[in-house]
Amino acid sequence: MIKENLTRVRRRIEQAAARCGRDPASVRLVAVSKTVSAESVKEAIDAGVRLLGENYIQEAREKVDALIGSPASWHFIGHLQTNKARFAVELFELIHSVDSLKLARELDKQARQRNKVQPILIQVNIAEEKSKSGITEQAAAKLIREVSCCGNLSIRGLMTMPPFFNAPEKVRPYFKALRQLSNRIAAMNIDGVTMRELSMGMTGDFEVAIEEGSTIVRVGTAIFGERQ
Ligand SMILES: *Cc1c(COP(=O)(O)O)cnc(C)c1O
Repeated sequence: MIKENLTRVRRRIEQAAARCGRDPASVRLVAVSKTVSAESVKEAIDAGVRLLGENYIQEAREKVDALIGSPASWHFIGHLQTNKARFAVELFELIHSVDSLKLARELDKQARQRNKVQPILIQVNIAEEKSKSGITEQAAAKLIREVSCCGNLSIRGLMTMPPFFNAPEKVRPYFKALRQLSNRIAAMNIDGVTMRELSMGMTGDFEVAIEEGSTIVRVGTAIFGERQ
């Protein structure tokens, strides 16, 4: 089941990339495993998944422990509390959800203590929804300039969670806006900042996200099935 789902998702990624003349290898798939059991995650890894996305630190710690030695790495995609920064730096190859200087400074401190340079993305609340985390589009450049001074963080790009629509086409303007913001920030040539990654697109809209330049799609339901 997971294996078949994965094959279907990969094919859809390839087709979306082909439609807009992109190399499918320029789109990385993060299998979002929140609420999914370690057994199912193992099944996904056995079927070739190499990147897993988790939203909650405690849940992730248990799964990472249960799957130690497996050839996958973990991305943090949920809202991160400052007091969990330590675990985030210990567990995750990429943290997608940095949206404040306070959080960045704590991650920087924790990374420095571990002699690590922690790759991060800046989460942008592109539609300015009250219910969602993320810095506003207007404030993003300023935050990135400030965070760029954190010597143990490496800013690699932007992430967004756009509003939910049943019709993926309705999400396209938000993906486009994130890409344009990313281009503007790249043009500022801020020291130590690259805008190579655009983390956008989920089960309902990842093909449109790829057409708009996504380099990381975060897909849960289409791989693991509906969450309880
Ligand atoms: C749950 C989640 C996803 C995956 O959502 P699906 O619709 O199940 O693909 C992607 N990104 C974030 C930040 C999430 O919380």
